[in-house]
Amino acid sequence: MAVPKKKVSSSRRDMRRSHHALKVQKATECPNCGELKRPHHVCGACGYYDGREVAATTSAS
Ligand SMILES: [Zn+2]
Repeated sequence: MAVPKKKVSSSRRDMRRSHHALKVQKATECPNCGELKRPHHVCGACGYYDGREVAATTSAS
């Protein structure tokens, strides 16, 4: 529901925004090449996921 801007105190507004902070992006080591990668994502360095190559690497073969 829309509420007039000045009816919301700065305290109440800021309490609402207490959940708005960005979280740190988690990273794990790739079991294949040891590079840092995001969990549940294909490794950007070697293109491996779940123990096999699923994406072509951009550089050497
Ligand atoms: Zn890798």
